[in-house]
Amino acid sequence: MIAQIRHDWSLADLRAIHDLPLMDLVYRAATVHRQNHDPSEMQVSKLISIKTGACPEDCSYCAQSSRYTTGVAPERLMETGRVLEIATRAKEAGVSRVCLGAAWREVKDNAQFDRVLEMVRGVTDMGLEVCCTLGMLNEQQAQRLEEAGLYAYNHNVDSSAEFYETIITTRTYADRLKTLETVRKTNITMCSGGIIGLGETVEDRLKMVQTLSQVRPHPESVPINILSRVDGTPLAKNADVPVWEVIRMIATVRMVMPKSDVRLTAGRVQLDDTAQALCFMAGANSIFSSETEFMLTRAVPSPSYDKDRELLAALGLHQREPFKNGRPQDKVPPLA
Ligand code: SAM
Ligand code: SF4
Repeated sequence: MIAQIRHDWSLADLRAIHDLPLMDLVYRAATVHRQNHDPSEMQVSKLISIKTGACPEDCSYCAQSSRYTTGVAPERLMETGRVLEIATRAKEAGVSRVCLGAAWREVKDNAQFDRVLEMVRGVTDMGLEVCCTLGMLNEQQAQRLEEAGLYAYNHNVDSSAEFYETIITTRTYADRLKTLETVRKTNITMCSGGIIGLGETVEDRLKMVQTLSQVRPHPESVPINILSRVDGTPLAKNADVPVWEVIRMIATVRMVMPKSDVRLTAGRVQLDDTAQALCFMAGANSIFSSETEFMLTRAVPSPSYDKDRELLAALGLHQREPFKNGRPQDKVPPLA
């Protein structure tokens, strides 16, 4: 059956899907999307960089690594009040999820983490879903986030295990998977995906999809970032990703993880409205939007709330309500 939930996809299976004639691929992915989701609905999230720059990790794409001179000025952990102000405006704009990102290697048990827990409680109390992306964390820290009401934890695998080593040397792919396992032991939902345009092959992309599809249950949310080239990083001069490759990737992820939200994330500004519409047709049902015209930092641009509202209206799409799929703490039956 076309929309069966599977964890045993072979690379040959994935290649056969990915390489279908593009129109067939989009048609099939759109069919799976419609069987599993309300096709008129778009999840719109707002990213807030709660702690910016000076990150000890060496991720070759990232504006926030202390190893590269990128023009991103480091900032201390944001005050909770400021986070709540941004979240209030996001709610007014119809956003249903706020994602709090910190340029940390890992969570530490200190006053800063206590403040992040306060932010999670505050934004959740406003009736919004909260996602955190804070780097590696242990079981006790995951439990504290769960108790604070955290909806989702983002931790991307970024690429295939082999290619990952050429992009990041300060942690291993196994570290990444261990954090995902830790999150899976709680009721917090999982958000994990990767980036295309790092210089990887299609095989690397498909290995990444295979890795994500082996997670039980599948990650509830799978972000597909298009590399946003940042001056000063080792990947600043990488080639553009052809739009057809973006659409192929979105459609493949949609078919392999039918119930998951597929997020068209960084690099969306590189796509014109028509290309975005094709990505939505192929199964992308989640985007980041912003009052400022950037995502986490000025180095990574984002479409604005106003521009996105216009685009969604033109396409006949509406913004998804928060908690449409229940609260993880209500122990909603997980994806298979
Ligand atoms: N420090 C945390 C971590 O690495 O897990 C969270 C912050 S980081 C912003 C989260 C993700 O954003 C990365 O895993 C990567 O997939 C994506 N990302 C960061 N910079 C990017 C860029 N320039 N282009 C595309 N995606 C990017
Ligand atoms: Fe640090 Fe995350 Fe950027 Fe890597 S992606 S350098 S861990 S902020």
